[in-house]
Amino acid sequence: MDTTSFLKKTIGGVTQIEPALTPPPANSEQTTFAKKPKIGAHKSKKREIPEGLWTKCPSCDAMIFDKELDENLKVCPKCEHHFTIGARERIHSLVETCTFQEMDAEMSSVDILQFKGVATYKAKLESYRKKSTLKDAVVTGIGKMGTHTVALGVMDFEFLGGSMGSVVGEKLTRLIERATEGGWPVIIISTSGGARMYEGMFSLMQMAKTSAALAYHAQRRLPYISILVNPDYAGVMASYASLGDLILAEPKALIGFAGPRVIKDTTQAELPPGFQTSEFLLDHGLVDSIVHRKEMKDRLVKYLDYFAAGKRHGHA
Ligand SMILES: [Zn+2]
Repeated sequence: MDTTSFLKKTIGGVTQIEPALTPPPANSEQTTFAKKPKIGAHKSKKREIPEGLWTKCPSCDAMIFDKELDENLKVCPKCEHHFTIGARERIHSLVETCTFQEMDAEMSSVDILQFKGVATYKAKLESYRKKSTLKDAVVTGIGKMGTHTVALGVMDFEFLGGSMGSVVGEKLTRLIERATEGGWPVIIISTSGGARMYEGMFSLMQMAKTSAALAYHAQRRLPYISILVNPDYAGVMASYASLGDLILAEPKALIGFAGPRVIKDTTQAELPPGFQTSEFLLDHGLVDSIVHRKEMKDRLVKYLDYFAAGKRHGHA
């Protein structure tokens, strides 16, 4: 699939960061320069304004101070819009402090096909590694949630559109296999544009590999919770993301296989309103529950308690 245009479109909506000391007023068109203070007139006042960046909410247009947005787990305090959040930040919000042991932290992709597009795959990987603290689009490891040991895999959309290449597939497979050995539940939070086109067939193989590992995990009657966050598409949705015993989603996440435009062009039919959103998929049975980001940890601990109680009583 066309990962690059998808990436630009989606990221474009959330990276409208405008550096400013104060947020521009909502009706900025009516602002006149007459109100502009004279240079040097308010020197003391200027110092009181905290330095930083403001982010415009793509949903309600509110200007939010970045620090406030960070403290609120990247959820708009005005309209509850869920912004993209990094894998490490998300893990931090879910596991008990200092309990997360990362697995395969150094594993990184190689350019096996020597892919050349507008830029080479190698150059793309290098630039994304520099931009983020990540080696690839997923972070995996074992941690504690409440009293439970869990195997947690969290994807990061900012790394090459969360695309699934050999490293994403291998890291998740190793995570699942470790959980099967340890007798632990698996939780995977996915956000992805799909398979990584730069790795061709190698990325498509990851769909079968991760699914097979989950099948062995299920044979041991161990739970797998899949959490879908915006956006979640294609090869990832067609494999591990839709195989959860429980499938949760964040509010208003876009979730699907092919994008709505492709479906509309292929079927020549009008798509129903709200098509491919968490809410639509909850109504149609794919998603079991929509959970607000700030309530996610408590909810997961509740489910884990439930699974553990079932196991103790031999019902699981
Ligand atoms: Zn908002």
